[in-house]
Amino acid sequence: MFKSEYLNRVYAGVEARNPGEKEFLQAVYEVLESLEPVVEANPRLEQNGILERIVEPERQIFFRVPWVDDAGKVQVNRGFRVQFNSAIGPYKGGIRLHPSVNASVIKFLGFEQIFKNSLTSLPIGGGKGGSDFDPKGKSDMEVMRFCQSFMTELSKHIGADTDVPAGDIGTGAREIGFMYGQYKRLRNEFTGVLTGKGLTYGGSLARTEATGFGLCYFVEEMLKCMKNDSFKGKTVVISGSGNVAIYANQKATELGGKVVAMSDSNGYIVDKNGINLDVVKQIKEVERGRIKEYVNRVSGAEYHDGCSGIWTVKCDVALPCATQNEINEDSAKALIANGVMAVGEGANMPSTPEAVAAFQSAGVLFAPAKAANAGGVATSALEMSQNSMRYSWTFEEVDAKLKGIMINIFHNAYNAAEKYGKKGNLVAGANIAGFEKVAEAMLAQGVAY
Ligand code: NDP
Repeated sequence: MFKSEYLNRVYAGVEARNPGEKEFLQAVYEVLESLEPVVEANPRLEQNGILERIVEPERQIFFRVPWVDDAGKVQVNRGFRVQFNSAIGPYKGGIRLHPSVNASVIKFLGFEQIFKNSLTSLPIGGGKGGSDFDPKGKSDMEVMRFCQSFMTELSKHIGADTDVPAGDIGTGAREIGFMYGQYKRLRNEFTGVLTGKGLTYGGSLARTEATGFGLCYFVEEMLKCMKNDSFKGKTVVISGSGNVAIYANQKATELGGKVVAMSDSNGYIVDKNGINLDVVKQIKEVERGRIKEYVNRVSGAEYHDGCSGIWTVKCDVALPCATQNEINEDSAKALIANGVMAVGEGANMPSTPEAVAAFQSAGVLFAPAKAANAGGVATSALEMSQNSMRYSWTFEEVDAKLKGIMINIFHNAYNAAEKYGKKGNLVAGANIAGFEKVAEAMLAQGVAY
């Protein structure tokens, strides 16, 4: 529990209102814990009920998504959009399509998104959406029918100045295209209502690469400023082989690292010579296949069933880029025993609280998701700017802005931690820096009676 009576009261309220929602409760607990010194120093927060308000979504929309499969059978999924906080801009956050999606997962992601979006220094509020629909194994036509039905309801609640969804797990260029087409059909308007769009219809160059690239820019700055070091010559392990993982691999390699392991939800591959990213891209992006296939194409590589074993592969830098809670305490201890010096979270909340504590007490540099993976949403905000201007920047222009944003986020998080007596603790620093701006805006905007 917390030392502050105010924080205990707020957390007890969240538990009572959201019973059994373990991911959401975990995310709220972590943020409140970081805010202890901020709450102590600023009585206005309690006087104005800022924390009670920030833990309650402004609006939650849960809806039926009926669609017809290739056999002509009606299927029903559940759709979600949680519009969490609009204090500093329109709601912004991805759409996750995965069987594990439920209210707790979407609320945890939406809550985290508030602080992440604030950290980017761009004017975007926090939201998240998704469905328990699984695009895996579905035909393109089935995915299209699902996306159209999903957007038929969602279109009533979003807009370029209201709420701008994007991709996430299971929602890539194909799904965004189908959803955008349906929005346009229903509303008869061509606006930047979704980001992650294709380049032919308003997408931004470098958006595809942004989260993975941004993660590496952040980790590089952290290594430089906190250890006078860099990716150069480092062995790197990356979980996942989706959008974030692939482009984290590309940038880590460009910066001089050697990526020796990657995974998917079935198992992981190890290639001591350095993973051949072209082969991974072919298997995962083009063929939508399994990572196991890699060993049939690259000699000397190994495949192992199961996801958690990847953290027993010796490395200097670990970049979890698959999903939440993929590194538990045992995995963290295995990484530490093998001499890991830095962990950068590409996925959202991939480390359990026990794993984070283990990294921090072992002196491992730890870059939390909220700060380290903010490059995706930052570039989405740059896509919104380009759409509003009806203009496109070059790849180099967007990439340079992304790099500047990530370096800035590192320093803001580092300085906020130092200001509140938690030097080097980037978890606390990111939460505090993200929170302060949103809280200021909420205070300025008052409460409606
Ligand atoms: P993708 O769907 O492109 O890739 C996800 C990868 O993680 C796949 O390799 C997938 O394996 C694996 N995976 C999914 N679920 C599990 C699971 N339960 N256990 C183990 N592995 C799993 O998603 P993204 O790369 O876009 O997203 C990855 C993470 O990064 C998520 O946490 C997301 O919220 C976060 N993120 C993404 C951003 C973006 O811009 N895309 C921005 C910020 C954060 P398989 O192929 O078998 O499904």
